[in-house]
Amino acid sequence: MTTATKDARLSQIADTFQKRYGKAPSVTVRAPGRVNLIGEHTDYNEGFVFPVAIDREMIIAATANGSDRINVYSLDYDACDAFVIPTSTGDDAMSAIAKSEKHAWADYLRAVIATLRKRGYKVSGFDAVLLGNVPQGAGLSSSAAYEVAVVTLVNNLDNLGISAKDAALIAQQAENKYIGVQCGIMDQFISALGKEDSALLVDCRSLDFRAVPLNLAWRDYAIVITHSGVQRGLVTSEYNARRAECNEGIQALSSMLGRKLNSLRDIDLAEFEKQASKLSDKVARRCRHVISENKRVLDAVAALESADLVEFGQLLNASHCSLRDDFEVSCPEIDQLVELSQQHDGVLGARITGGGFGGCTVAVVANKAIDSFKDEVIPAYEKLSGKHAEVYICVATDGAQVLEL
Ligand code: ADP
Ligand code: MG
Repeated sequence: MTTATKDARLSQIADTFQKRYGKAPSVTVRAPGRVNLIGEHTDYNEGFVFPVAIDREMIIAATANGSDRINVYSLDYDACDAFVIPTSTGDDAMSAIAKSEKHAWADYLRAVIATLRKRGYKVSGFDAVLLGNVPQGAGLSSSAAYEVAVVTLVNNLDNLGISAKDAALIAQQAENKYIGVQCGIMDQFISALGKEDSALLVDCRSLDFRAVPLNLAWRDYAIVITHSGVQRGLVTSEYNARRAECNEGIQALSSMLGRKLNSLRDIDLAEFEKQASKLSDKVARRCRHVISENKRVLDAVAALESADLVEFGQLLNASHCSLRDDFEVSCPEIDQLVELSQQHDGVLGARITGGGFGGCTVAVVANKAIDSFKDEVIPAYEKLSGKHAEVYICVATDGAQVLEL
């Protein structure tokens, strides 16, 4: 990960742009990665999530080139890509831009351009340079940051008038339909709409949302993300299996209750528990996680709003237990890291974050305990697991924006 300051990254990108294209960029945009504080595996179940946009981001500098081509250089990969913008719209536009033969990183740009054209948006040719510092493949959604940055860029270059909510939906469709990852809306939503020092309570059914101030600096706490050093494996197959198990639960509960549930949002915990024993043990546990997690999100927001940080932390811990035992998306190393974190003085709460099966934990840690967290929890974890863990201290930032340079 690049640790350079934002100013250093911006001048690196501007210098590279000048060298490669012999001119200055006319627009520079950023879009952040994210960490979800609570509300995991609820987004594709029409539930609640509570993510923050973090100060790790994709930056793109660009200028129109007056042609029908897009030329792009990735500083992180030291590689170029170029392709022609299709004149077609609709599904033809999706198939008119093939995936890159050489560069998987270029496919996210191609995906968004194809999706914009599918929806009939004008896209004019441009030259661009990309630079990102969201850890990739760590579950902090570098892909959503990248996709939302591209929508923000084209929106500005071609003056398309796309709202932030639509930018999120376009970016999600690019990931679903072109990249082929069936993610929910959370990652792109928070990257587009995040708010400084706040988390967003998002209702993934209606897409209504509300920024909830964290006041972390004032409260003397920080968001600490730790990468367990376990690469996320089995993600696609297990993710699809969880989705299928949730759907099985919805069907079975609908017929037991004699009313059609559209999603696990349509049943509360008390009603669910009356039926749970009639479901298979596995499906019952999957549903219990989702239904109880939705409640924990709302309880966590209420706890923050009444400044009950101890309760907030306990809800994070309870979310971890539910993800570990009922949804079964944790792994032994993450469980060790979460336990060690929870036992550390100054940690309000800790849990696995992201899709699961490795990746990152998130903890809320008192500023005065951050050094001892790094000095004690991390070595203890590394000794137990044999894995190298990386710590990112994050602040909550605004969502995607055009940078005034
Ligand atoms: P995650 O979203 O959890 O970080 P993904 O596998 O969904 O992981 O997306 C990671 C991919 O996104 C990378 O393999 C790369 O292709 C692309 N990507 C992310 N950040 C950058 C970057 N800074 N430059 C180029 N491509 C990037
Ligand atoms: Mg991703």
